[in-house]
Amino acid sequence: MEFKNMCTRKIRQGLIDKDFSAKEIVDYSLERINNSEEKIHSFIELSPDLAYKKAAELDDFVAKGEKLPPLAGSIFAFKDNMNLIGTHTTCGSKMLENYDSTFTASCVKHSIEAGAIPIGKNNMDEFAFGSSCETSAFGPTYNPWDLERVPGGSSGGGAAAVASGQVTVALGSDTGGSIRQPGSFCGVVAMKPTYGIVSRYGVVAFGSSLDQVGPFTRNVYDCALTLNALSIQDPQDCTSHPLDVDYTANLDKDLKGKKIGVIPDFVETDGIAPDIKAAYKDAIAKLKDLGCEIIDVSLDHAKDAINAYYILGPCEAFSNLSRFDAVRYGFNLPNSNLDSQTSNSRGTGFGNEVKRRIILGAYLLSSGIYDKYYYRAQQVRSLITQDYTQAFEKVDALVMPTTPNTAFKLGEVSDPNTMYLSDIFTVSLNIAGNCGLHLPTQIGQNSNLPVGIQIVGPAFKDENILQIASNLEKEYKFYENYERITRNF
Ligand code: GLN
Repeated sequence: MEFKNMCTRKIRQGLIDKDFSAKEIVDYSLERINNSEEKIHSFIELSPDLAYKKAAELDDFVAKGEKLPPLAGSIFAFKDNMNLIGTHTTCGSKMLENYDSTFTASCVKHSIEAGAIPIGKNNMDEFAFGSSCETSAFGPTYNPWDLERVPGGSSGGGAAAVASGQVTVALGSDTGGSIRQPGSFCGVVAMKPTYGIVSRYGVVAFGSSLDQVGPFTRNVYDCALTLNALSIQDPQDCTSHPLDVDYTANLDKDLKGKKIGVIPDFVETDGIAPDIKAAYKDAIAKLKDLGCEIIDVSLDHAKDAINAYYILGPCEAFSNLSRFDAVRYGFNLPNSNLDSQTSNSRGTGFGNEVKRRIILGAYLLSSGIYDKYYYRAQQVRSLITQDYTQAFEKVDALVMPTTPNTAFKLGEVSDPNTMYLSDIFTVSLNIAGNCGLHLPTQIGQNSNLPVGIQIVGPAFKDENILQIASNLEKEYKFYENYERITRNF
């Protein structure tokens, strides 16, 4: 039985038809991961015991003739900032290298309850700061399309695991682009749902007002089905919203009469790779052919989003990361002086990018400085949100690039400011709390790497962007390209 390009639907059906058992799926997946990990390094830890336990439960369901849950048998991996009892939760950091999860994050629990088999924890930039997966204390992940290139970040491990066919679905977290940007570099469907749709409980916090969990998949249906499982109101997260939506419901509806907004300023600038521009223009033409009306809109303050984000993000991170104090848990260099113990432990346990964000956040929140930066960034946040609200009075969704470039080489971007610009098209959505999805569409003619577009929707209209993505997916059939890389691993 060939599992490697199987989607959620086929796996579940195969279990129902007794073509294979859940145990066989796990055997196959672990073998495949073990054969490819040396090249890709998308995992920090595998969880075979948990996987076999869930498989046994599913096989028992089949034996008893019970109805299988929607994600039954799909192999899931979780970013290593998501707690899962029975695994460590390292956040890609020496600080939490030996930290045992003491509970299970709601998004992980909801996935497993929906039938997902937990195979392991994915590599990531340390504490989710980064756009290349190079800052992980456990070494980088490599892009399956070209092993000399980065997979993007911070959820690079999950994107690479899905692209290479190691897993069916991976969950990432996106504070400023960390699902969509690696999705773009690795050529997979990658969604940041509306803030509030997926519980953040048990996901180690970076920027609590910006963080959102979402899936990496090889097709839009799997993305929508995973979102069904994840969008459950959670009393443990006061920002989680009660919603009763079937995200797969609209996928086969056509797009006739849909209004799609485009922002001409976004692509008519230098610094955007020709392949990205070409993919964007091609997608707009396809949307027109599918019956959409294309309307120019402006997001006047979007140009300030990156500046606002690199103020708001570090301020929230500074506060959230203060819990790693070398007293309660985490990396600890014992010292008779408590202050020295904390500062030495944090100095050694955290990597450079983490320290940069903490120092920046501490400075920006200090008295006298706060009004000049944090307060103003909050005002800019309101303006960006207003821009989106006004745009969505005219259009159903927006289309824009996801990243300015295709995947770059390991070590190629060493200056933090250049790295931060990777998020230029993604951060404004987190700031406004909207939903966004990266859809891979083609292999770029110049780069020979995957390219695609970002579809952006208003808050709580996630089903609309999935519908647009599904219609475009039928045109492009990007999933046919996976065979080209899966055969290498
Ligand atoms: N690359 C961005 C940053 O480093 C986004 C990170 C994220 O979304 N977690 O802050």
